[in-house]
Amino acid sequence: MKSLLIKNALLETGFTYENSRAVHTETELFDVLIQDGKITEVGKDIQFLDCEVLEANGKLLMPAFREMHIHVDKTYFGGPWKACKPITNGILTRIEEEQILLPAQLPFAQERAETMIKWLISQGHTHIRSHCNVDPQIGTKHIEITQEAFNQFEDQVTYEIVAFPQHGLLRSNVEPLIREAMRMGATLVGGLDPSVIDRDIDRSLNLTMDIAVESGKGIDMHIHDPNSLGAFEFYKLAELTKQANKVGQVTISHAIALGDLQGKELEELVAVLNEAKIDVTSTVPINRPTIPIPYLHENGVPVSLGHDSLTDHWSPFGTGDTVEKLSMLAQRFKFIDEYSLNRCWKYASGGIMPLSDTGERVWPQKGDLANVLLLDAVCSAQAIARQRPITHVISKGSLVYKNEDVLMKEGTK
Ligand SMILES: [Zn+2]
Repeated sequence: MKSLLIKNALLETGFTYENSRAVHTETELFDVLIQDGKITEVGKDIQFLDCEVLEANGKLLMPAFREMHIHVDKTYFGGPWKACKPITNGILTRIEEEQILLPAQLPFAQERAETMIKWLISQGHTHIRSHCNVDPQIGTKHIEITQEAFNQFEDQVTYEIVAFPQHGLLRSNVEPLIREAMRMGATLVGGLDPSVIDRDIDRSLNLTMDIAVESGKGIDMHIHDPNSLGAFEFYKLAELTKQANKVGQVTISHAIALGDLQGKELEELVAVLNEAKIDVTSTVPINRPTIPIPYLHENGVPVSLGHDSLTDHWSPFGTGDTVEKLSMLAQRFKFIDEYSLNRCWKYASGGIMPLSDTGERVWPQKGDLANVLLLDAVCSAQAIARQRPITHVISKGSLVYKNEDVLMKEGTK
């Protein structure tokens, strides 16, 4: 692999304080040398002969994004415009719809998955976790399709595939299919609302954990059940996680109940999630109470972001634009000052940020993976608040995307 030298990239180096409050992000131009997919030097005026040179022209260098909840296997993205059908029977409306829709989409499902993966890479994601339907109509075909689609981008993105019983593990009786999907190489066991869908919380969760233990993998479960019902399921899942020695290997996607609880109830639940090291993924919904993302982070529960959909039979709205999502998160939690805007990036980058909480430059360091973005921005706070465009995406040390439109306007092409 050829080495890559990024010249004149803007790096965040610290904060300027006024009355002990960070009011400005300090930045400086650096060169960054990348070899064999890793950052090997960060300095001024690096000279290295045998390499490709990328002139950053003062663009801001930031850690790449991780898309932690998406369904690349069932999308309208890349196809003709189609709005969603009205909901007439709750979540079951969609499940019934899928019985006809997904077999009909099968001939072009891989092509659309590839279009979506390509788009997500252009939006700065170098890692994608995709949930993948395993249901009585589709069987494990979507697992194959998703693996094939990701194979086309092997040198550009790392990925995880969640075997997802969208029609219910018990309700649609797909236990053998999920076990088969895990043998085929799915990397996580999925799940969905053990109460509303499977109507048997204990059996549903026990079986999910049993499959995780058999396959030696973790779990990522959709739980939309609200309020105390969702909380009850979280308690059960945390208990099973500890019993099965899966601490640190379980994610709850959406975890909507966390947006409904307050005070002592929320505190107690967060402590239990913490003990089992269960993390949470959110789309930052604005059509219902958003889960308390900053509170969760401050209390030890990592939160990641995902788009879930970019336009499909569930929602016509997703964009795949994580700068926009971070901006939405900042707006939702009223982050308007330099410091709180600056601290948002971690939710989309697996926790990686250029500055520590106290303003020391901690990234990038020698040995870090070279998954980085360049943006047309003066600092990350501005990038988020003003939704500044990504100009380059570097994954595993190689340039995988260049935003020709933005660069052409600047005349730097
Ligand atoms: Zn989902």
